[in-house]
Amino acid sequence: MMLPPGSTVGILGGGQLGRMTALAAANLGYRTHIFVNEPDSPAVQVSAAATIAPFGDAAALARFAAAVDVATCEFENVPAAALRRLAAKRPVLPRPEIIEIAQDRLREKTFLRSIGVATAEFRAVDRPAELDAAVRDFGRPAVLKTIRLGYDGKGQVMIGAEMEAAEAWRRMGAPHGILEGFVDFACEISVVLARASDGSLAAYPAVENRHVNHILHTTIAPARIVPGIAAEADAVARHIAERLDLVGVLAVEMFVTRAGKIVVNELAPRPHNSGHWTIDACVTSQFEQLVRTICGLPLGAAERHSDAVMTNLLGRDVENWRAALDDPDAKLHIYGKKKIQPGRKMGHVTRLSRCLRAPR
Ligand code: AMP
Repeated sequence: MMLPPGSTVGILGGGQLGRMTALAAANLGYRTHIFVNEPDSPAVQVSAAATIAPFGDAAALARFAAAVDVATCEFENVPAAALRRLAAKRPVLPRPEIIEIAQDRLREKTFLRSIGVATAEFRAVDRPAELDAAVRDFGRPAVLKTIRLGYDGKGQVMIGAEMEAAEAWRRMGAPHGILEGFVDFACEISVVLARASDGSLAAYPAVENRHVNHILHTTIAPARIVPGIAAEADAVARHIAERLDLVGVLAVEMFVTRAGKIVVNELAPRPHNSGHWTIDACVTSQFEQLVRTICGLPLGAAERHSDAVMTNLLGRDVENWRAALDDPDAKLHIYGKKKIQPGRKMGHVTRLSRCLRAPR
């Protein structure tokens, strides 16, 4: 099915990913309608319409369904019930089943293992005593994570040499956890790709991600890894997208171990912070690819015309926005969030290099 320009793309969630998707949709002549529980969110500011309601509001969801031609999620923690209710009325892409896998670290890792993809060692733990036993089996350090609703390091506890299992359990603060063996990585990378309903696929090159306090700070595109590892990262991401029968955009976060092995950490079936550089450095951005795939349009080229370094503007970093404009090879993006909080993603700057244009 092809939805022509003029159709309405519904987006569940109102953050910066929704905003940048809405901007890409607008460039192609689509309207966007945002479903979000707060007014004046980053995506609502740039969209034609919004339904402001909680995801549990069935009547609001029905109104939203009636107003859109297709729907997508800009974050993966939309409740499964809402996704299914919506999917009964309108196409939801990527499919809700894929989003449900990515919402649950246990299901996600079990799925990855089932298709032959390497992950950290993991085990579900439902009580402090089970955690204690798992830590003994895995050794220290180990990483305890909540099964659901964890992002940017929230709900995550590093269990070092000293920490008691009971203390780690208390810090996690959730009824169900997953213990992961510690991956001694050389670097963290990710591959973002888009896949269309006819099975065609376009992947961006693997990029290198630097975190500060568990929050992505910098993405270096392409990653400074040997070609063999980059090719393997690409192959792993394609394999996952194909086995998920994905229609949409998928980010695969991976560790590269010191031995040069790729271990998948997490999946995000949506545009990803480590793909923001594609707006300014590639022929087609990750956001445009999402619009293309869910509207049944052909994929655009994922080739880059520049190398890039993307830096997030976290918290008060955004107050230095003026400095970015003094660099002629920097592109500034500000998300329109009113309240500055420490670590909050307020915007980003992409610095281009080795551009395919005449040197100055
Ligand atoms: P996550 O919430 O799973 O994306 O994890 C956030 C960050 O914590 C990752 O980007 C890594 O830097 C670190 N981390 C997560 N899991 C592990 C692990 N099993 N071993 C080592 N570091 C990890």
